[in-house]
Amino acid sequence: MNLDTAIQYLPGVGPKRAELLQTELGISTVGDLVRTYPFRYIDRSSIVRIADIHPDLAQVQVRAMVTKVRLYGKNGVELPAEKLKYNMVSRLSVIVADESGEMEMVFFKGVKWMHARLIPGHSFIFFGKPAVFGTRLNMVHPEVDAPDSANTGVLTGVYTSTEKLKTAGITGKVMLKLIGTALEGVLPTLQDTLPDYILKEKGLVPLTYALRQIHFPVDQNALAKATYRLKFEELFLLQLSLLKQKYVRSRSAVGLNMPAVGEAFNACYNALPYELTNAQKRVIREIRDDMRSGHQMNRLLQGDVGSGKTMVAVLSALIAVGNGYQACVMAPTEVLAQQHFANVSKYLRPTGVKVALLTGNTGVKDRREIHAGLQDGSIGVLIGTHALIEDTVHFRALGLAIVDEQHRFGVDQRARLWNKGWQGVPPHVLVMTATPIPRTLAMTLYGDLDVSVIDEMPPGRKPVQTLCVGEGKRHAMHNFIRDEIAKGRQAFIVYPLIFESEKLDYKNLELGYEEIVKAFPLPQYKVAIVHGQQTPQEKAFNMDAFVAGRANILVSTTVIEVGVDVPNASVMVIESAERFGLSQLHQLRGRVGRGAERSYCILMRGTKVSKESQKRLDLLCATENGFELAEEDMKMRGPGDLEGTQQSGLPISLNIASLAKDGLILSDARGYAQHILDQDPGLTQDRNAPLAAELKRDKYQTKDYSQIS
Ligand code: ADP
Ligand code: MG
Repeated sequence: MNLDTAIQYLPGVGPKRAELLQTELGISTVGDLVRTYPFRYIDRSSIVRIADIHPDLAQVQVRAMVTKVRLYGKNGVELPAEKLKYNMVSRLSVIVADESGEMEMVFFKGVKWMHARLIPGHSFIFFGKPAVFGTRLNMVHPEVDAPDSANTGVLTGVYTSTEKLKTAGITGKVMLKLIGTALEGVLPTLQDTLPDYILKEKGLVPLTYALRQIHFPVDQNALAKATYRLKFEELFLLQLSLLKQKYVRSRSAVGLNMPAVGEAFNACYNALPYELTNAQKRVIREIRDDMRSGHQMNRLLQGDVGSGKTMVAVLSALIAVGNGYQACVMAPTEVLAQQHFANVSKYLRPTGVKVALLTGNTGVKDRREIHAGLQDGSIGVLIGTHALIEDTVHFRALGLAIVDEQHRFGVDQRARLWNKGWQGVPPHVLVMTATPIPRTLAMTLYGDLDVSVIDEMPPGRKPVQTLCVGEGKRHAMHNFIRDEIAKGRQAFIVYPLIFESEKLDYKNLELGYEEIVKAFPLPQYKVAIVHGQQTPQEKAFNMDAFVAGRANILVSTTVIEVGVDVPNASVMVIESAERFGLSQLHQLRGRVGRGAERSYCILMRGTKVSKESQKRLDLLCATENGFELAEEDMKMRGPGDLEGTQQSGLPISLNIASLAKDGLILSDARGYAQHILDQDPGLTQDRNAPLAAELKRDKYQTKDYSQIS
């Protein structure tokens, strides 16, 4: 038997159970089984003194002597023992004591048997969940064992199970037995995944020890060592595979060399109405170094909403132009593409570089002109939606592709983008995202990319005052908006639209719109509305009205979530705020606070708000730091649920390590993986053979990690 043996052939499994293990738990080999770890342990390794028991403890074990036994009937009346045979007893109460105090053990079932067993003067081990009933400490239906029982003194693993598994007889006990059999079968010949020298350098226990102890720990200390080893291994191998890919690519992927800064860059830079922040300068330097390295750039640019990513994009594009290449900027929506086009055009005016906009709505004639301009090179920068990677679009020499707002690329789209490079050399790629990702997640999700972070806001940005209010404050909210409008400001009012197709959501939006129009009547007020079911023309018309200041209020769904820039807007009202995720709320809030005025974000809370949702809203009121919020969000919900990152976005599913909790191990593992690769980039040294072998496993092969480039 070895790790790759099909689970069916493990004694005690067979074809039927094998299928269940596969479908229910994804276990198809013996190796999968031994890598299925308990999610918690029943700790029977220690005996607790009764005086030290607290009802908050999960499960405890006491060794105590029975001092008093009482029987009660249905009405709570105490009954003599003779009544047992008439089935009149409904509760058995057993008072037990150790040297520190006493407590009660309560039984509603198996009363006869327990009564016969729990004889005053005898000691037992009781194991169960402590509680307080009235003023008395008790345990209901504890497990009862003889004081010298073999059950005590151990930690017992608890495994994920399902109804189907239980029905098929695969209970926790059976799982333990199967795993025991599997370990006996594979451990004698098991090769460690980590070479000896790494175990030594990192102070890790061997795999055989770790696997045995994770399933059958002898004590907490052994379990801790096993857990650490397995977590480190998991994170280390993942980082090693990511970094190795990155290394291979940076070595092999020839990049367009762009040594010059160019006149266009300087012209734009010198005409800037403001000084770049230090973070912007640093990031531009990082990008410039990539672009003249001779290797293809694959960089992720993270920066909170309003941190000034657009300027970085523009200057990067101008480096490409300055070296005789073209650049494109791809935005996720039509509205954003238009806004980018407007901004970029403004910045490029002093440079004379020609910029064009290409979207699904570009007319045939314009399209033809743009195609020609791209091919003869007269258009330096192309901005658009994904229409710009269609096969009909040909650049003369595309040198840089900028992808805004985490536009996720499929393999197919990626191939198209790469094919648009110059003479077979793929363009440099810069992906910009305003969704702050916790560091540990970024390392994993984008582990094979270089990451730049703009961690500084442009000066003059005033904090956005955030408050969370209930229905009772709706009038006050309207009055507040009136005051702001009277000061010449504008307001966003956003409705949740979780599923674009849900009629109910649109109904909410429409009702909300009617209410707002009533509260803010013409001719004094003008209200625009934007949502996903409008035609692009309607959308653009309403959006333009708000951007240009003709409308005071914009009622919308989350289409304005990303990118839209209206510095004059000072109020962001979010309806049913509890229905939004944390990062989405943060994105929305980022739409205000862009001008010099004081800005406000008002979270309108519905009537039914879960504790967790309220925690999210409170957090949002407490901080404006997107990275902090992202960290908290990950802690609350786990990395798999974070917005902007789907479960499938994680390169491999982690069995034991947690990105939310094991950040320190992750950093250590990544640093160490880098260190190993620095010495042996191809992992060809003999001593690294186990690592090279491990990375050949399927799970490190198939995933399209970043899906970016
Ligand atoms: P992001 O795309 O990162 O959300 P933007 O690029 O849209 O942010 O910039 C937000 C606002 O800040 C814009 O109005 C922009 O003109 C302004 N801005 C950018 N960089 C600076 C800077 N260094 N100093 C002052 N204002 C800046
Ligand atoms: Mg932006």
